[in-house]
Amino acid sequence: MAGSPQMNCPHCGEKLKIRSSKRQHILLKQIWLQCTNIKCGYTCAGNIDITHQLSPSAIPNPKITLETYQEKNKQQYSSHD
Ligand SMILES: [Zn+2]
Repeated sequence: MAGSPQMNCPHCGEKLKIRSSKRQHILLKQIWLQCTNIKCGYTCAGNIDITHQLSPSAIPNPKITLETYQEKNKQQYSSHD
């Protein structure tokens, strides 16, 4: 897979285009989306957030401490016990 993540309009199913974005936090970005179907015209907002890490950085930012994928999965499984 390549490129930016693709979201589809929940109403007509066409592609949503990111029209604007604003960084809320180092791990969180708010995005505003617009449906590319001119007959639909739906607009909405959402978030892109970084939730966990897969492999550590070689030049880590000491302010960023994220769970690993394994730690996050372990919590999800244990919460069902
Ligand atoms: Zn639409």
